[in-house]
Amino acid sequence: MADFDKRLGDLIDDYCPRCRLLLNHAIASMVEGNVVKVICQTCFSEHPYRRGEGGKKKLPNPRATLFDQVMANMPALSPQDPPPAATQKKRTANPARYISRHKGKPIRGKS
Ligand SMILES: [Zn+2]
Repeated sequence: MADFDKRLGDLIDDYCPRCRLLLNHAIASMVEGNVVKVICQTCFSEHPYRRGEGGKKKLPNPRATLFDQVMANMPALSPQDPPPAATQKKRTANPARYISRHKGKPIRGKS
């Protein structure tokens, strides 16, 4: 939606990422009637117009939602099926490499 009632230099409320508050901002640049950049009237930092949005916590773990999307497309596994061996044995297949500064101390797990 174009903000045709706004003009350069007008004061609008926006979230300032530097002050981390919703504060007065002057419109610094507009493209086709839309506010693009604003200048905080408190700290005078210029930043893209956020439409008052910001400072919210990020979505809870976007990887989890992506994972859920992938899993939704997977064929359903019956409960009797054992999990794939690759995921089951990954921990033992790739053990962590222990880096020790003390020489001569035997690493656990090796003969
Ligand atoms: Zn500010």
